[in-house]
Amino acid sequence: MPHPDTAALVLTIDLDAVVDNWRRVGRRAGRAHCAAVVKADAYGLGAARVAPALAAAGCRTFFVATLDEGLALRPLLPGAEILVLGGPLPGGEAEMLGNGLIPVLNSLEQVARWRAQVRDTPLPAALHLDTGMSRLGLEPAEVMRLAAAPALLDGLRITLVMSHMACADSPGDEMNGVQLSTFGRLAAMLPAGAPRSLAASSTVFLGEAFHFDMVRPGSALYGVNPTPGRANPMAPTVRLEGKILQVRDVDTPMTVGYGASHRVTGRGRVATVAVGYADGWFRTLGNRGHGVIEGERVPVVGRISMDLTTFDVTGLSAESARPGAVVELLGPTIDVDTVAAEAGTIGYEILTALSRRAARVYIGGAA
Ligand SMILES: *Cc1c(COP(=O)(O)O)cnc(C)c1O
Repeated sequence: MPHPDTAALVLTIDLDAVVDNWRRVGRRAGRAHCAAVVKADAYGLGAARVAPALAAAGCRTFFVATLDEGLALRPLLPGAEILVLGGPLPGGEAEMLGNGLIPVLNSLEQVARWRAQVRDTPLPAALHLDTGMSRLGLEPAEVMRLAAAPALLDGLRITLVMSHMACADSPGDEMNGVQLSTFGRLAAMLPAGAPRSLAASSTVFLGEAFHFDMVRPGSALYGVNPTPGRANPMAPTVRLEGKILQVRDVDTPMTVGYGASHRVTGRGRVATVAVGYADGWFRTLGNRGHGVIEGERVPVVGRISMDLTTFDVTGLSAESARPGAVVELLGPTIDVDTVAAEAGTIGYEILTALSRRAARVYIGGAA
């Protein structure tokens, strides 16, 4: 593991900020339990650190995407529910069961395969209803078959009935009301005792009607704005800082970087920083992104290389822009949604692409 003092790139992850965001979402969700989605290694922040910090704060239910993600977390979360969103793949059922993971069943085919594992005691399972994503989940016709033949669920203890929203980041989209009523209608056909869940991060902010018994935020916990276009109600959780390797004076007619896409038009200075697309510093930030050195905004000039990015530091003093000086690339000044907009993507992709090469520093958390 690289040492933060000498590392060229440092990623600082604030576990207290993640916990604080979980509490903020929980307050919005009122009586509903606030679960945590920690798939994709907690959106790149490190599930092995993030999930135990949330469990210590009182989170009892965690969602991962795959069996392997669940297996990695199981020993770290004693007593917590871990649900696998993708459900069991053929051949993976016994391992899921043996390790106390709860599958989200997305089709009658998955329901049947999970039921084949039943021996003496009922097996826990969540049911995912498709109300408009056409991605995962029981289709309305399948829900009606279950309603007509409840024996298809014999041996299962349904711990959750859930669905997922397609357009929750656009509060005015009519799709939101359509999915809400479809969910109510379909869920009413299923066993009554099981808790209901419809809301991921943005859906929580659509209002109380969407909260049901459990909400399932992911991105909001990690600081992505769940209310695009309005002020971000979440705290930033990550800080990515690169160090300047070299500073050079440039003059006409020099070009900067691969493809000579930036041409210097006057006297200036360019700082080369140890961050590149291999660190999740997207190549689309070339000639578009920016960094911050001692509070001063410095634009990216030229293309992003695998390990290097060049910034125009003409406006800065030689003291500020010197080898070893720190450039904020993502953090309190440049939030994840801003970087995403400059890169032409969404905050989710920025976080999940975060560098595995950077020295990682965790601050906060119970330990
Ligand atoms: C990823 C996911 C979530 C969390 O979504 P965010 O928008 O990151 O809050 C919730 N539910 C399901 C089914 C998901 O796949």
